[in-house]
Parts: sequence; structure tokens; C-alpha cells
Amino acid sequence: MNQQHNTAKVVVIGAGLGGLSAAISLASEGFKVELVEKNDKVGGKLNVLTQDGFTFDLGPSILTMPQIFEALFRRVGKHMADYVSIEKVDPHWRNFFEDGSVIDLCADPARQRRELDQLGPKAYDEFSRFMAYSKRLGEETEAGYFAHGLDSLWDLLKFYGPLRSLKFDVFRTMDQGVRRFISDPKLVDILNYFIKYVGSSPYDAPALMNLMPYIQYQYGLWYVQGGMYGLAQALEKLALELGVRIHLNSEVETIVTDDDRASAVRIKGGETLVADIVVSNMEVIPAMKTLLKASYDEIESMKRFEPSCSGLVLHLGVDRLYPQLAHHNFFYSSQPRQHFDAVFKHHTLSDDPTLYLVAPCKTDPSQAPAGCEIIKVLPHIPHIDPDQPHSDADYRALRERVLVKLERMGLTDLRQHIVTEDYWTPRDIEARYYANQGSIYGVVADRNKNLGFKAPQRSSRFSNVYFVGGSVNPGGGMPMVVLSGQLVRDKILVDLAGWPR
Ligand SMILES: Cc1cc2nc3c(=O)[nH]c(=O)nc-3n(C[C@H](O)[C@H](O)[C@H](O)COP(=O)(O)OP(=O)(O)OC[C@H]3O[C@@H](n4cnc5c(N)ncnc54)[C@H](O)[C@@H]3O)c2cc1C
Repeated sequence: MNQQHNTAKVVVIGAGLGGLSAAISLASEGFKVELVEKNDKVGGKLNVLTQDGFTFDLGPSILTMPQIFEALFRRVGKHMADYVSIEKVDPHWRNFFEDGSVIDLCADPARQRRELDQLGPKAYDEFSRFMAYSKRLGEETEAGYFAHGLDSLWDLLKFYGPLRSLKFDVFRTMDQGVRRFISDPKLVDILNYFIKYVGSSPYDAPALMNLMPYIQYQYGLWYVQGGMYGLAQALEKLALELGVRIHLNSEVETIVTDDDRASAVRIKGGETLVADIVVSNMEVIPAMKTLLKASYDEIESMKRFEPSCSGLVLHLGVDRLYPQLAHHNFFYSSQPRQHFDAVFKHHTLSDDPTLYLVAPCKTDPSQAPAGCEIIKVLPHIPHIDPDQPHSDADYRALRERVLVKLERMGLTDLRQHIVTEDYWTPRDIEARYYANQGSIYGVVADRNKNLGFKAPQRSSRFSNVYFVGGSVNPGGGMPMVVLSGQLVRDKILVDLAGWPR
């Protein structure tokens, strides 16, 4: 830790996990940090709702790479375990197909082999070869893109060199990368759906995204005891201990700029906070449009950073238990290609979406009254497209298709057992977090549009304005946005060393 020269005032806009991580990382270096959040609590999309005795985690349900969170605590001599307890979930998830077959992904290799043997004698060996490929991609990515905050193709080529860059399987899509190793169509669907972590399509995302199974198997899949929101509370506590001043119910309306530098942020109807450095956890494109009043040409130049998908998020409290469910479950579309194309190419609501279903009471019964459980369902759907808007009736019709599909695939009488419900459309996600067009993971990973890169962490126009969170590198998902907060600290320290004092 080098606190000697870092007395600059930093204002972080937004207390999502990216903003919290940046605030903690910078406060731990001695900066004076103000964290300004429009909502009434920290955590951003990591959010919680208690209703009729049920505790619904409104956003993320899967924690991976806990070491990235632990690093925040370790840097200031603390232990994450003193702030929040996490436990491993196994099986990782259960996969349901329309023909009635059910296959688990599990941490234990012997159990995994038994599960995959259901798909024929070749499946496990093919899976093992795929996992070796996934490991190569993962280890290369950890060494450069994650560790050094590489922000562009140029950074990547400089770091890895042209030959080593080819190791990222650059000429294939994720789906093509899977099919190099896997012949069984169900296993293809299972591995393709790891794309869920970044809300993109395996038919358009670069093959590099096949690193995700390695990440999950290597670092485990975790639940936060007492509910996922405990993670946001742990980071909030650490931030306060480090002297971060948190302003809730405070929406930033402008970043005040002077030539190529920001000098303050203005809060709606209130204070102006003077800033030597501004870090925005508001997504890049909304922040450029509303806070920085960027020109049409500037926004157009960011078009390749298209939003990831959005979601229809159903939080259901039911008055019975469904013993066939694991904690995490996937119910596959019978036409996965059509499903992904509907979401990412045609921006329509899929006739037969793949459904991610979380039943957290399998690990933590305290989240619901006795004899009841939580069924949270998340089909990925298009982000808001102003040229092709969906009505409330369209979303309600999709909700019905989702529930009918689940009943058909074994959740008998689900609709009759719903005793409480909370329901989010992309418009709610946009309004609550100012997420770009209702995106849930920031920027889409698309080989043709952006090669899988997200926007850079540093503003190209204002030398002391930075970005963190899902819309910038290394991207969306809880561990990545927390990493972005740590990487922005590193960038600021390097930049500061070169600034005049
Ligand atoms: C339903 C759902 C399920 C998900 N599942 C998973 C999962 O299982 N695992 C996983 O790892 N990830 C998951 N994710 C993704 C994950 O939640 C996000 O990638 C991550 O939490 C985003 O963090 P962030 O810091 O980028 O942004 P956000 O959480 O969006 O935080 C941005 C913050 O900035 C605030 N803000 C914006 N503009 C302003 C302004 N002008 N003034 C003041 N404040 C402002 C917002 O209110 C918000 O609090 C899921 C997301 C959703 C919605």
C-alpha cells in the first residue's frame, strides 16, 4: 500500500459492486472517496426483496471466483470470512431436457463421469478434452487480460504477441469451439449455455468464452449464506471502515468538466462534490449521454459496445417443494439456435426460451416459510430496442409460456402454487439501475462487433474520468466487475505518477 501521495479526492458514481470495489480499492490507497448512489441501498443489481415471508435475491445467484473478492479484503489486512460466509454448491447445476433426460454438472470427477455416461460412452472423454482446452483459454486470460487490465486488441497484441494471441482460438465462435470436442447435442447445449455468465449468444461470442467452464470448475460455484445480498453488505461495511463516505438516494446529474478534465459532480437537487478524479459505475454509454453530454459522433463511435441481453425475472414464492430441483437448474429450449437468434438477432421474445431456474431454499431453507420454496426464473430476452418495443402484454404472454414450459417439464401445477410474486421486465432494470437499454451484464460479447472486448476503463476525452462495472473490461458478472474496481485503482496510480503535482 502506498498512501503517501494519494490525497486526491475521488467521487465514485454508483454503488454497484464495481463502484464499491473501486471505492474500497482507492480508499485503501489513501484517497478520499465519496460514493454516490441514486438508490436507497448499495449493491446495484445485487439487490434483495423481502415479501410475504420470502427473501428474494433480485439479481445474481451464482458466485464464482471468490478470490477476487477476498483480494479486496486482504489488501487492507482483513479476512473476508469475518464479514461474510460463503459455501460451495454441488451439484453446480441440473440440466433438464424436453425428452425427460436430466444431467447434473458436478465438482466431483467420478460423479461427473456417471452423469455424462448417460450420454453414451464417448461423452466423458470428449468433455475431459474440452475441459483441457477450457483450462488453456482460462490460464492465458488470467495471465494477461485479467491480471493487467488489458483494454483493447492493441493492448492484447502488445502483451501476448501475435502468435500467443492465436491461442485464444480467435477464428471460431464459442459454439464452434465446443463442437471441436463435443459430439452429443445435449452436451453442446449445456456447454454453450455457460454464455449465461455474460448474456450473449454462443453463436456470435468469440471461442474465448469457453474459458468459463474452467473458471467454474477450478474456483467452484458458491452461495452466500443468508442470501447473496450479504456480499453487498460486507463490501459496504469494509468501505465504511476505510472512511468512504456513502451518499444514498443521491442521483448524479452532471459531471462538471473543464476542457479535458472533470472538476466535480453535481447531485440532483443538491450538493456539488469537488473531485480530482471521477469514477463512473454508471454504464459508459448512459454516462456519456447524460452526465458528460457526449456528442452524437462520440456515442456512434461506441456503437460496437452493444448492450448484453436483458431478462424477464420472475421471483415466485410457492407453497410446496419441488424435490426434483437442484439449487441451480436449466430447462433447455428444444430449438436453442432459434432461441438465441430471437434474443440477439431479431430482438423478439422467444417462443421456447431456455430457462435458468434458481431454487435457493435447496441450500438455504431460511429464505422461505416452512413447507414453501422460492422459484426464481430467468429467461434471457432482448435488451430494449426502441425500434421494436415490447408491450406489457408481450411480457405477460412470455411469463405464461415460461410457466407452461416448466409445468410441462415436471413442475406440476406450478401456477396454482404461487402465493407471492415479483416480476421485472427490461424496463424495470433500466429504470432501477440506469442499465443501458435494460442490459443485465453490460456489453455483449460478439466476435464481429467487438471481439469480446468491452469499453475501455479510461475516458478517451477526459483525462481524469474512469469507468468500472459490466460495460467496461473485463466485463459483466460479479467477479469481473469487482476486478474492474481493482484494475481501475492500478490505472489511476500509474496515471497519477505521470500527472503534474
Ligand atoms: C437478474 C440478474 C441475474 C444475474 N445473475 C448473475 C449471477 O448469477 N452471477 C453473476 O456473477 N452475475 C449475475 N448478474 C450480473 C451482475 O449482477 C452484474 O454484472 C453486476 O452486479 C453489475 O455490477 P455493476 O457494478 O457493473 O453495475 P450495477 O450493479 O448496475 O451498479 C450500478 C450502480 O450505479 C447506480 N447509478 C447509475 N447511474 C447513477 C447516477 N447517475 N447517479 C447515482 N447512481 C447511479 C445504480 O443505481 C447502481 O446501483 C445478474 C444480473 C441480473 C440483473
